[in-house]
Amino acid sequence: MSKCMDCNHWSPKDTAPGMSRFGFAVCLKKPTPWRTFSANARACEQFKQAPEEVTGPRHAKWDDKTGGRNANA
Ligand code: SF4
Repeated sequence: MSKCMDCNHWSPKDTAPGMSRFGFAVCLKKPTPWRTFSANARACEQFKQAPEEVTGPRHAKWDDKTGGRNANA
């Protein structure tokens, strides 16, 4: 199952540090102010695979960090 953190549209660098620290980031395809998506959220129909050099560090940093919360966001 793909997750938001594997998606090219998931953008921690455009997210407030207080949220990204816990594995939540904005989606560049769904730019609603203040809305963030869990690193472990199930990917949506707009998913676009990010390259390995991006997803590798993300998994190292955020795998299981959100504890499965927001899994259906
Ligand atoms: S909500 Fe969809 S488009 Fe946005 S980051 Fe997650 S999978 Fe990608």
